[in-house]
Amino acid sequence: MKTSTGGGQPAPHDARSRWRHARDALKKTLAVQAGLPEMLEDILSSILNIASEGIIVADQDMRILLFSKGAEVIFGYTAPEVLGQPIDLLIPHDRREAHKQRVHAFTAGAILSRRMSNRQDVTGLTKDGRLAPIEVGLSKTTTRSGMIYTAIIRDISESLQAEAELNQAVSEANAASAAKSAFLAAMSHEVRTPLNGVLGMAQAMARDALPAKQVERLEVIRQSGESLLGILNDMLDLSKIEAGKLEMETLEFDLGDLIAGAHNTFSALAAQKGLQFDLYVSNRAEGAYLGDPLRLRQVLNNLISNAVKFTEKGLVEVDVDRQEGLLVIAVRDTGMGISPEALTRLFDKFEQGDLSTTRRFGGTGLGLAICRDLVRLMGGEISAASVVNQGATFTVRLPLEHIGQVPALPDVLGPHPAADDRQQVRLLVAEDNRANQLVIDTLLRQVGITPVIVPNGRAAVAAWEEKPWDLILMDVQMPEMDGPTATSIIRRRELDSGQTRTPILALTANAMDHQLLEYRQAGMDGLVAKPIEIDKLFSAISGAIGPRQPA
Ligand code: ADP
Repeated sequence: MKTSTGGGQPAPHDARSRWRHARDALKKTLAVQAGLPEMLEDILSSILNIASEGIIVADQDMRILLFSKGAEVIFGYTAPEVLGQPIDLLIPHDRREAHKQRVHAFTAGAILSRRMSNRQDVTGLTKDGRLAPIEVGLSKTTTRSGMIYTAIIRDISESLQAEAELNQAVSEANAASAAKSAFLAAMSHEVRTPLNGVLGMAQAMARDALPAKQVERLEVIRQSGESLLGILNDMLDLSKIEAGKLEMETLEFDLGDLIAGAHNTFSALAAQKGLQFDLYVSNRAEGAYLGDPLRLRQVLNNLISNAVKFTEKGLVEVDVDRQEGLLVIAVRDTGMGISPEALTRLFDKFEQGDLSTTRRFGGTGLGLAICRDLVRLMGGEISAASVVNQGATFTVRLPLEHIGQVPALPDVLGPHPAADDRQQVRLLVAEDNRANQLVIDTLLRQVGITPVIVPNGRAAVAAWEEKPWDLILMDVQMPEMDGPTATSIIRRRELDSGQTRTPILALTANAMDHQLLEYRQAGMDGLVAKPIEIDKLFSAISGAIGPRQPA
């Protein structure tokens, strides 16, 4: 092999200097290594002095050989006090045996180091007799004079304390939130009763002959009352959702009915604004489903209501289809649309498009938050897409079981009683609230029915004993005896005495399907929801007593 020293090769004196350099470095290293044992001692003692962890070394008889500054802080002893003493000094009496067993197992085992951090278990005993929660890292080393053990100890009282404080804060926050929800629920319920008075009387007055000016003012009262009722219901829903108390029903319902209901509710409003309002249900989506029709209607109504509210011209369209086993409902409009920024927080509570939206359209910004929660409780999802000034589309996807056709549920609603028939109706009302008594009395008297009103269930049973009635309207929550209890007593006595069955309708704000089921189980024949709507009240009365012949 031919070698060359020319070109880029280092000159001989360069090689020499590199060799000298390497030799010096080697000498230095050797010198350092020779002095290392002394240096190690210095290094060790500086570690022992500055480490906030406690470092303790014990010999094979478990006597303390080394006790660092950190250990002094944790245990309260000075090093001279403990050196040569058994390690048991630092362990609570009742744990010493267990500690011994552990150290035995550790000594016999192949593992050279381990961590002990079972938080309940590892506790140190301080000089003043306090139990200190600690974490321990343990290692063993075999030396010429036998096994030695090194423990690194961390005082965790502060982090345990912080953890306890955090837990306390979380449970306090939960309690506060539960109290808030309970307060909201109670308030909403309480406010609903006087509202029933306002809305009921507004309806009663609207049937009187009034000057045009008063009709207009009355309409403002009615509309304001109704929006207040809407807000109350939203708050009630939200507090139930937050408290985890909102339960979804699983009932058979017909999609056609649901869509027809939406059409009835919004077609007049859409027409008033000059909007086209279309509803499509694909063939494969038609039929009956298992789910919560009341809550689904609430979601749908909310979306359609928004679409109509935020659309000035063009159309609102509801499209229902079934895709991959999901019921897919899309509500589309050609309105003002939603900015991309607003779109990201659209389903958050109290969020609205922007401040000017609140000013122009009112609303609380709760509707979509409730929709999202309801849809999630049904196991589905809701999404929104929009192009500003072109419109918005809200899509709900629900995993509801599709079960074909079902027979319609029996319905207490029927045609209004004819004026002549009403004269003869013997109607008993059990209602404890004075304002509600006045409302129902006024509404019934306007159509020629003079009800007898009693203040609780017990009085209703007594009145029923006294003479026959064509119909009993029964409040649910009443002092002394509630409506369902009174009803079941009446039903039992009817059976025992072979009397004909008196129709009984619940008169209540608690008009969910499962509640109706409860009332039916007590023997009631249906319900009239509060706040009372005049048309529904009369339909329910005719439905319950049937067409009557004038006496
Ligand atoms: P609100 O009761 O205030 O209407 P929602 O939660 O129902 O509350 O709606 C929140 C906001 O979302 C509305 O204030 C509006 O800015 C926007 N929004 C909802 N639906 C539509 C829609 N179809 N078109 C345009 N904006 C909408």
